[in-house]
Amino acid sequence: MEKIKMTTPLVEMDGDEMTRVIWQWIKDILILPYVDLKTEYYDLGLEYRNATKDQVTIDSANATKKYGVAVKCATITPNAARVTEYNLDEMWKSPNGTIRAILDGTVFRTPIIVKGITPYLPTWTKPITIARHAYGDVYKNTEMQVPANTTAYLVTVDENGNEKRELIHKFGDSTGIIQGVHNVDASIGSFARSCFNFALDMKQDLWFASKDTISKKYDHRFKDIWAEIYENEYKAKFEEAGIEYFYTLIDDAVARVIRSEGGYIWACKNYDGDVMSDMVATAYGSLAMMTSVLVSPDGNYEYEAAHGTVQRHYYKHLKGEETSTNSVATIFAWTGALRKRGELDSNADLMAFADRLEAATIQTIEDGIMTGDLYLLSKLENKKKVNTKEFLEAIAERI
Ligand code: NAP
Ligand code: MG
Repeated sequence: MEKIKMTTPLVEMDGDEMTRVIWQWIKDILILPYVDLKTEYYDLGLEYRNATKDQVTIDSANATKKYGVAVKCATITPNAARVTEYNLDEMWKSPNGTIRAILDGTVFRTPIIVKGITPYLPTWTKPITIARHAYGDVYKNTEMQVPANTTAYLVTVDENGNEKRELIHKFGDSTGIIQGVHNVDASIGSFARSCFNFALDMKQDLWFASKDTISKKYDHRFKDIWAEIYENEYKAKFEEAGIEYFYTLIDDAVARVIRSEGGYIWACKNYDGDVMSDMVATAYGSLAMMTSVLVSPDGNYEYEAAHGTVQRHYYKHLKGEETSTNSVATIFAWTGALRKRGELDSNADLMAFADRLEAATIQTIEDGIMTGDLYLLSKLENKKKVNTKEFLEAIAERI
């Protein structure tokens, strides 16, 4: 066949370990035979991050701002062990954190649903996408242990030195603990806009929840900012798209999520998102079937798998042993990025290719051909475990 042409490049962010191996195989086996792939390549593998003093990560984020769409491989976030293993000059920061800070984005995680793998909640027949506000609250806190017979205040000082104070608690006989947390209106607004935009993109309802009845100033501020942005900027667009913005209390949201069939986007405050994303991911079956996209409030997109570099499999691979690593979430990162590129460039062929590659991937698993992690979960009778490369080849046969 004549290869599908691209007019604008994708920003390609390569990564580490087993996912780096899979990255190349996905391109060779599933994309390059069909697409005249245009990318601007950034090597976020740990060696090159170290060689460029992490400048490559910053450059890749800026390129995403320029072109609008990126696809990213999983990368190592260095810890002490990695500093020794890779002989690093510094314990470089998480690339995802750096990219998110530059794009000011929100991460949306969506499970990929296939027949044979039933969520723990069988009513969840459609995916639930979780968006987590990744700034502030308890993640940027100041805490103290307080001795007995101490009084704690919340104090602010403005630029003219004027003080405002509120009593937190007068500690009596017992020692105790206090905590100061904050958030910024601008960040809450960016989070809201990313979520409203993504809901319009997906044509799905958007839920948001907090505890505004108890936290009458802090959580209520979230509710008000969201409501104001919705009314002024999105209400008409939502009505036109036939979707709904739904605000409720967090405990009511949790109860409704459990009873629901899925098929919506659930925006969560930072802590709620941390906890609920792990619960939802586990309930759908497997982290290897979870895609993730970072969306900036001004409409830049970075697609990736939610899982890490699958280190244990990589060491087996290095020893020449066979691996059975699940490439589905990484494939869907590519299809998400290709489809979005196609949408922005009015490239219908590219969008259709992304649909086909996803359909072929799901068909492969539903035909009973799958990697070891899914083999353990699948209820299909004729299932067969294949190795990493055989899985990709089985998809290629079905495109
Ligand atoms: P991980 O790479 O997600 O792997 C944890 C375990 O989950 C694996 O050992 C494997 O279990 C299973 N697993 C995950 N993805 C799989 C897949 N595609 N196919 C089959 N099994 C899969 O997490 P980690 O081991 O905690 O982290 C490894 C490295 O990834 C770390 O350096 C971390 O910094 C990095 N990381 C990066 C990102 C990112 O770039 N977005 C996210 C998370 C972690 P079995 O070994 O039992 O088969
Ligand atoms: Mg968590």
